[in-house]
Amino acid sequence: MAVQATAAEHINPYEIALQQYDRAVAYLDLPKGIINFLRCPKRELSVNFPVRLDNGDVEVFTGYRVHHNTVLGPSKGGIRYAPNVDLDEVRALAMWMTWKCALVNLPFGGAKGGVICDPYTMSDDELERLTRRYATEIIPLINPHGDIPAPDMGTNAQTMAWIMDTYSMNVGYSVPAIVTGKPINIGGSQGRTEATGRGVVICMDEALRRDGHNRPSEIAVAIQGFGNVGSYAARHAYELGYNVIAVSDVTGGYYNPKGLDIPDVLDFAAQNRHNLLEGYQNADKITNAELLALDCDVLAPCALENQITAVNAYDVKARLIVEGANGPTTPDADDILFARGVEIIPDILANAGGVTVSYFEWVQGLQAFFWDVEEVHRQLRRVLIKAYDEVIRIRQQHGVDTRTAAQITAIKRVSGATLTRGIFP
Ligand code: NAD
Repeated sequence: MAVQATAAEHINPYEIALQQYDRAVAYLDLPKGIINFLRCPKRELSVNFPVRLDNGDVEVFTGYRVHHNTVLGPSKGGIRYAPNVDLDEVRALAMWMTWKCALVNLPFGGAKGGVICDPYTMSDDELERLTRRYATEIIPLINPHGDIPAPDMGTNAQTMAWIMDTYSMNVGYSVPAIVTGKPINIGGSQGRTEATGRGVVICMDEALRRDGHNRPSEIAVAIQGFGNVGSYAARHAYELGYNVIAVSDVTGGYYNPKGLDIPDVLDFAAQNRHNLLEGYQNADKITNAELLALDCDVLAPCALENQITAVNAYDVKARLIVEGANGPTTPDADDILFARGVEIIPDILANAGGVTVSYFEWVQGLQAFFWDVEEVHRQLRRVLIKAYDEVIRIRQQHGVDTRTAAQITAIKRVSGATLTRGIFP
């Protein structure tokens, strides 16, 4: 597998999350102690644990689970498997989860987990042993009423099934609500797998329509990342008639200026264990850096952090960026893009579809009453559009960029709840 580097500089995601927070919190008249409290992760767990590999060797892996904030309710956040996971990345992702849940008005706080590993080079058996052992190590922190994991990069519904089973074996009875994003036959929700990508496109479509664009076929869309978020974003955009001209994954970009046949790309990817696009013939091969600079109307970064930075923000030609990934744009790039009039729908809004349907799944699991997919899609749209409206209102009120407006909205809710609850004891 040929893995391509992107244009990214390495920038600490936690420092970015804190910079974004500092920018937004400056618009709120909050006591200094509350500002400092919301800046810090509530608790952090690091674990080192052994896993037996298929060749009989034992390897020690490191994992994390961070709870950023639990004022609004149980903490919620995915688990990432990737070689470059570190504690600061998990802290940043946990903090963004706090703001995301608050922004879409879910009764959840924010958390995140991660394990330093390369799921692309591990067998399914190794991944199962790693997952079960990691789940066992973080049992002190997870709980269906306290902290509920979900999938993120490198993990999927099967990973959630193993965590659910491991937790259930430990407590002695089945606890479907311990995770969300699990397979439907063990209590998952209709519409969860596609929810994040679908939400990205709901936000994109809404922004374009509000801007007077009513002909999807005239809108060229480039999508970075073809995993859970990127592939479902591509599928839904294609279904709505958008012209998806480029997609990419860790092996590079695939471009057709006339538009890609997304069902054909999806069929091709489905033949590969990791849904990789390497070898796809019905498109021109480009790099991920070239994809970010393509001549298109909408750019949807749906892979990883730090993709649009001060180094390449001037090269972006899209007029709208919809952040399917968490943290794809740095604050310096935000400033450059804002000055250039490029609109950004920030991650905590654009990719909130995943946690929103995770919330629906959790509620359905606790009630043991399940909805049909039409109901899930309808409710997802309702929640996202309501949050979108509120962000636009706050943006106008404060005269800020959309990311800052989204963060102001979220921080206001969490700080308000903190002040109402009071400081214990
Ligand atoms: P995934 O593991 O399913 O897919 C990741 C994709 O990114 C793959 O196509 C992979 O090949 C590609 N990729 C990896 N390294 C790359 C690189 N260097 N350059 C270009 N592409 C690269 O992960 P996912 O669940 O789709 O998550 C993607 C992003 O969306 C992450 O930032 C994640 O935090 C965020 N997110 C995911 C969800 C969810 O429900 N899964 C929800 C909200 C946000």
